[in-house]
Amino acid sequence: MHTRRNLLRAGSAALIAGVASPALAGIGKAEYRALAFDNLHTGEKLKIDYWVEGNYVPDALADINHLLRDYRNNQVHTIEPKLLDLLNLLHRQMGSNGAFEVISGYRSPATNAMLHERSAGVAAHSLHMQGMAIDIRLPDRNLADLHNTALAMQAGGVGYYPSLDFVHVDVGRVRRWGG
Ligand SMILES: [Zn+2]
Repeated sequence: MHTRRNLLRAGSAALIAGVASPALAGIGKAEYRALAFDNLHTGEKLKIDYWVEGNYVPDALADINHLLRDYRNNQVHTIEPKLLDLLNLLHRQMGSNGAFEVISGYRSPATNAMLHERSAGVAAHSLHMQGMAIDIRLPDRNLADLHNTALAMQAGGVGYYPSLDFVHVDVGRVRRWGG
């Protein structure tokens, strides 16, 4: 599929990206940033270079936006690239070889309102509605380790849901809940 990106990889030059968030500074030296997702609701899987030699790859971001859509009504929303960088760094720090299993990505206002009605654990103004949050786990790593590593990054909000087997991460202000 992504032949052009592979060609770009072969002819690479060393470029260093500027990174706005100090918390994500560790990502700055990578020429390629890849992510792999396994959407547990739709069964869709994706492994993709979303950033190549100094630039986000628009069609890769579109593929990610689609995979992380609101699966209840298929509404697609832009996922913040900064959230993807957080996930990329988190994945490398975890030393995982697996794809992020996705419990929840984008949530439309209608879906979030429905979930908020049902559960006190769902915020009325959730960052999931802005494409700034995701609920995840890694199949080959311990959930508590994932939680602690996300906390140590100080890159945004981190929620711990061990009974539901996922960690929430977002690129809002640094805060924590659960666990
Ligand atoms: Zn969440």
